[in-house]
Amino acid sequence: MVTDQEIKKSASSIIRAKKVVALCGAGMSVESGIASFRGRGGLWEKYNPEEYGHIATLQNKPEKAWIMLREMSREIMKAKPNRGHLALAELEMLGRLSSIITQNVDGLHHVAGNKNVIEFHGNMQSVVCMKCGDRQPSIEINIDDSPPRCKKCNGAFKPDAVFFGEAIPSDALNHSHFESKTCDLMLVVGTSALVYPAATMPEIASSAGAEVVEINPEATPLTGSVSDYILRGTAGEVLSRVVSRVKDLLAAGR
Ligand code: NAD
Ligand code: ZN
Repeated sequence: MVTDQEIKKSASSIIRAKKVVALCGAGMSVESGIASFRGRGGLWEKYNPEEYGHIATLQNKPEKAWIMLREMSREIMKAKPNRGHLALAELEMLGRLSSIITQNVDGLHHVAGNKNVIEFHGNMQSVVCMKCGDRQPSIEINIDDSPPRCKKCNGAFKPDAVFFGEAIPSDALNHSHFESKTCDLMLVVGTSALVYPAATMPEIASSAGAEVVEINPEATPLTGSVSDYILRGTAGEVLSRVVSRVKDLLAAGR
């Protein structure tokens, strides 16, 4: 259980900081019912994401890649933002959150109302034909097809997400570097910090002098090295408490 003292400490850091950036991972959406990579339960225990989610599998055996993509799309379509997403949206509205760098592909930060979201690994909201490049909203295609195919040329569709073996789009990478280098507080929420290059962002922030605060029930490779401290709780619980404290401090004029 995260103590009130710890919540107050991070709320005060947010109030003091000139620029706050959040780096989020799959743990952010666990309370929305979307399983993380390395967590228990859910589809990631059935499929090795580094195999089913590799670009070579999608190109050579699209029907195999879509077995996992279909289940993931269904989970995402059902999911709603949790109180952690809503707390980050509120923090942005209060003018206390510059941007979110998210590794998630579920689009839930946008649904929650955040405007400044860098989707480091793209998203699952649209698909692109791997043959002719035609782009369609995911809700327009039949995900039960094996694999879903383009009506124009019969090519297989690829979600607009970044697959294993693919490079991060340069816009997202450059923007994330800039945000990490120029913030003075980085909140690292629900990421195991094992997937590169996203995992380098806290190091970039810390090297540039920023305070780095993790929110995660479990320790990560950043804990005790790159991060200044960790609030060991879930994103929903901790972020809602922190943001409520930020509002109290703002109301008290501190
Ligand atoms: P990860 O699965 O490697 O790690 C998840 C982390 O979240 C762990 O450290 C775990 O302790 C923590 N966690 C679990 N429940 C939590 C909770 N309720 N609150 C806060 N933290 C919690 O995730 P990752 O580091 O983001 O890397 C996995 C990659 O998989 C990402 O690149 C992402 O693109 C992709 N992915 C995305 C989704 C999604 O879009 N929701 C889901 C699964 C995987
Ligand atoms: Zn096509």
